[in-house]
Amino acid sequence: MERVVARGPRNLLRQIREALAGGGPAQDRLDKVVRVIAGSMVAEVCSLYLRRAAGDMELFATEGLKREAVHVTRMKPGEGLVGEIMRQGRPINLSDAPSNPHFSYHPETGEDPYHAFLGVPLLRGGRAIGVLVVQNRTERIYDEDEIDDLQTIAMVLAEMVAAGEVVGQAEFKGVELQPHRPERLKGMRFADGLAIGVAVLHEAPVAPEKLLADDSTHEAKRLEQGLQRLRRQIDEMLDGSHGLVGQTFEVLEAYRMFAHSRGWNRSLEDAVRSGLTAEAAVERVRSEQRVQMSQTRDAYLRERLHDLEDLADRLLRILAGETPGSRVLPEDAVLIARNLGPADLLEYDRTKLRGLLLEEGSSASHASIVARALGIPCVGRLQNLRDRVNAGDPVIVDGEIGEAFLRPRPDVIEAVQARAAVREQRRAEFDRLRDTPAFTRDGGKVTLLMNAGLAVDLESLEMTGAEGIGLFRTEFQFMVAEELPRLDAQTALYARVMEAAGDRPVTFRTLDLGGDKVLPYLQAEREDNPALGWRAIRMGLDRPALLRMQLRALIAAARSRELQVMFPLVATVDEFRTARSLVDRELAWAQRRGRPIPERVRVGVMIETPALIWHLDALLPMTDFISVGTNDLMQYLFAADRGNPRVSDRYDLLSPPALRALKTIGDACADTGTPVSVCGEMAGRPLEAFALIALGFTRLSMPPAGIGPVKAMVLSLDAGAARRGLTAALKSGAGSVRNEIETLARKLNVAV
Ligand code: PEP
Ligand code: MG
Repeated sequence: MERVVARGPRNLLRQIREALAGGGPAQDRLDKVVRVIAGSMVAEVCSLYLRRAAGDMELFATEGLKREAVHVTRMKPGEGLVGEIMRQGRPINLSDAPSNPHFSYHPETGEDPYHAFLGVPLLRGGRAIGVLVVQNRTERIYDEDEIDDLQTIAMVLAEMVAAGEVVGQAEFKGVELQPHRPERLKGMRFADGLAIGVAVLHEAPVAPEKLLADDSTHEAKRLEQGLQRLRRQIDEMLDGSHGLVGQTFEVLEAYRMFAHSRGWNRSLEDAVRSGLTAEAAVERVRSEQRVQMSQTRDAYLRERLHDLEDLADRLLRILAGETPGSRVLPEDAVLIARNLGPADLLEYDRTKLRGLLLEEGSSASHASIVARALGIPCVGRLQNLRDRVNAGDPVIVDGEIGEAFLRPRPDVIEAVQARAAVREQRRAEFDRLRDTPAFTRDGGKVTLLMNAGLAVDLESLEMTGAEGIGLFRTEFQFMVAEELPRLDAQTALYARVMEAAGDRPVTFRTLDLGGDKVLPYLQAEREDNPALGWRAIRMGLDRPALLRMQLRALIAAARSRELQVMFPLVATVDEFRTARSLVDRELAWAQRRGRPIPERVRVGVMIETPALIWHLDALLPMTDFISVGTNDLMQYLFAADRGNPRVSDRYDLLSPPALRALKTIGDACADTGTPVSVCGEMAGRPLEAFALIALGFTRLSMPPAGIGPVKAMVLSLDAGAARRGLTAALKSGAGSVRNEIETLARKLNVAV
């Protein structure tokens, strides 16, 4: 505690702040800043280099070197010690700089007599935007406290520079204080659509006015309290009382390791001691780690450093006193994040959220599914996204192609607006098709249903003209709730859904939790492979009280109408038999109490595990209908985690094994007269839907946005010709037959 009062560059930071606030030309203010730093660090030289937009570092101010060199001396990335600091994003501390191989001699600076050299980067969002150097004549190594102090000064300078407090953009054109040029990043399409809006950072940085502490003792206390709360939160989560499984658990274990790690804690405390606020300390430590992260080649280490970043975000939220859901969005917001859990997205105001850009993620993850369900265009896997974008930047989400435009030029905006207008027109055409029944050209009826999960989805029923809800994901209600939804809340939602659907059928799927759908309030054990673990019906059968409560709510909501319910992730006929018997028990329970019971109850099963494909002969007679969940079925068929970006898109659904598996299911259902639908995401993509119809499927359930395009496809389709044409593709020896199927569709003039 003594040190808190005794040392640190707090005084210096105050002087810098005063120097910068002093008014007058920017150059004078900068000169003053380097002068006070040199004085305080007892250095003969202090120089500030800032990064030009072209990437060069330019000497912007110096105390001790020749003034003629200012705005003349420049270094390329990697050139000289300054360039090396910028490249590495790390300090360089040398007792005799001229003898270092990286030293590059710039005679105009007159730096010959100086030997000792300490340079630190000005880091912002994981990038070096400048370098701050002190030099001394004598050969000496700067001690750790000095390095620390200079880093703190550099951090504050970096934030001030970025906020335009040091050099006005007008005065120093071309200085790359923060990314400001238009950029185009290539990523992957997670949810279709176009959006133009302003960037909102899911993980927001600390505002410059909150950088310097007025009272360091108080900040040290805040930091300690914040850290304590953080550790408690994580410990509680790990205690098992919050129901974490698999990956989430591992991440938290890493969190706990870091949260308790002396290194991290000490870095934070040191930063506060040097005069920063608790928030700024978190940001500074994070900034340094980010640079390290971008340089490590070790994927595992990179992941762990990501965890550490998340931890920093968590700590910042604690310090800000933020509670979940308290974030306010501007109009036309485009959310920028590394990755999002499905519930994270639902916390934002949907009426203002136009788009979503992710650094990571995968198209089959539930965050992407939620984005598609909400009709929010989403592009993921955008490298270094968060370092390239500032809050408030204009951005474009191109979910058609899978690209993001940051700070787009007016012509790009115009081009995208034109495309959006065409989309709008097509949508209007789809709207016109809304009441047109989906018949193929050769007279076959295709039933187009939509997937839903929240009350907000219900509007889409009218808008799209879907013929019903083929998959209602009941767990979404649980995921957005703070606590387990009670019986009456469940009943109310289901009744509302049936009400909105009117005569149209609704198929409710019982809770599909686990895997990547984790509830903070439901207890679960840690698992090594959550996708293969205790999820969906497995959880339901082991916790029959939960499943029965849900069935009770469904029966109560249906009153005397028809009820359709199906079970997810069934792997054996016995599981289905048991699940079905629970429905019977609940019906009997309602009947005994004289409650209304549905006029008809149809109980179905989702085919999501390959095992069932070879037991259809036993399964089909027991079930009233089948729904093929291709998202899961394909992840298990190809043994590729749908939530893991490294593997999720490795295999093509339009491949002989996948199509043959689907055909086996479709044929068995046709032979036994079992109603069958496909409700995975593929059903909503015209080319994939074309293949499904060619395989013989005539009931497709999809995200609402898919209905129009798929209907247009159906109306242009000769299903008989498609079926005949697909036979060759099914026999192909290729790993993917996407091209063949596309060629076939074009040959048949199908609108895919
Ligand atoms: C599926 O797995 O295909 C499916 C429809 O269910 P979910 O995406 O909710 O797992
Ligand atoms: Mg599924």
